[in-house]
Amino acid sequence: MKRSALITGITGQDGSYLAEFLLQANYRVFGLVRRSSTINFERIAHLQDKVELIPGDLLDPSSLMAALERSQPQEVYNLASQSFVPTSWSQPVLTGEFTALGVTRLLEAIRVVNPRIRFYQASSSEMFGMVEESPQTERTRFYPRSPYGIAKLYGHWMTVNYRESYGMFACSGILFNHESPRRGIEFVTRKVSYAVARIKSGLQDKLRMGNLEAERDWGFAGDYVRAMWLMLQQEKPQDYVVATGVAHSVRNVLEVAFGHAGLDYREYVEIDPQLTRPAEVHRLRGDYSKARRELGWAPQVSFEELIGIMVDSDLELLACTAPRLTVAASLP
Ligand code: NDP
Ligand code: GDP
Repeated sequence: MKRSALITGITGQDGSYLAEFLLQANYRVFGLVRRSSTINFERIAHLQDKVELIPGDLLDPSSLMAALERSQPQEVYNLASQSFVPTSWSQPVLTGEFTALGVTRLLEAIRVVNPRIRFYQASSSEMFGMVEESPQTERTRFYPRSPYGIAKLYGHWMTVNYRESYGMFACSGILFNHESPRRGIEFVTRKVSYAVARIKSGLQDKLRMGNLEAERDWGFAGDYVRAMWLMLQQEKPQDYVVATGVAHSVRNVLEVAFGHAGLDYREYVEIDPQLTRPAEVHRLRGDYSKARRELGWAPQVSFEELIGIMVDSDLELLACTAPRLTVAASLP
């Protein structure tokens, strides 16, 4: 019998990589997709005849129960959320509904339909926020700095609580930033790789940026979905930090991305104070020793390789679709 998995957020960056990974591992893959007036399946277009899509929304409990009944999964990966930090200040209540309460709705649906289902929750290094030690481990105290980080922390503790209250196999992966050519265009690495491609193609001559000194521990999304799966294959449910252990600044991203295209970022970048955040997370760096030891996991793609891959991919994308994408350039 083929194993089945249900992915919420399958149309997102991680959902698309996880679906590929699970299909290769011979799973039957179901994806929860919310209704939209325009089709939004770009990242999974190449998988459309291989995955089975089920309409539903984290805001709607009965749709979650129906999705579980229909897919009968052994594993559920909850990747859906409002995932962009700045939007969490402009839409804090909605962020709480999706990113925080959405986790409880899904855990409740699993508890009622089949509490033996193994559950993965997409927790975030943003929960560490104003970091209390460096690098951050599974034991580091949380201090979130945005409505997004706070909503994720609620989802994280709910996952722990369902494990402890009901004995459910519920795990939380505390993932540090991970990127790819499929990253949303408003996140800093993709914003930069896309701008470099536009500048190189003569479509743009300036790039507005926020805080260049912020540091993140950036890895490759394709590596990180493997860790999600590994967590659900263990004997006991536990939480794991997934990271590279190396931090770089936003300025480093600019240097590497522009340098990859033979450009000097200082000639193009302007600081826009409107892009600085009400409360910043200055520096994140993860210690993934536990994942390495217990899951046998380690990142495969370096920061420099990752940024190079993203710039090359955006150059290629622009070569085929430049006219249709100009509107995205004005996004913050
Ligand atoms: P994306 O923003 O690319 O994808 C988010 C997904 O959630 C999309 O498929 C979106 O659907 C879906 N979604 C949003 N709201 C709802 C809803 N109400 N009901 C159903 N689906 C919904 O995120 P990533 O793939 O980058 O990240 C995956 C998860 O991991 C997220 O929870 C994110 O917060 C978390 N995370 C990500 C990190 C990263 O660096 N990428 C780091 C740590 C955690 P639609 O396409 O319709 O908008
Ligand atoms: P986050 O870590 O989930 O918030 O991921 P982002 O990619 O959105 O941001 C990473 C860091 O880059 C944060 O510290 C931002 O303040 C910083 N940053 C600096 N300029 C920008 C910008 O123009 N856009 C975004 N998204 N982030 C920026």
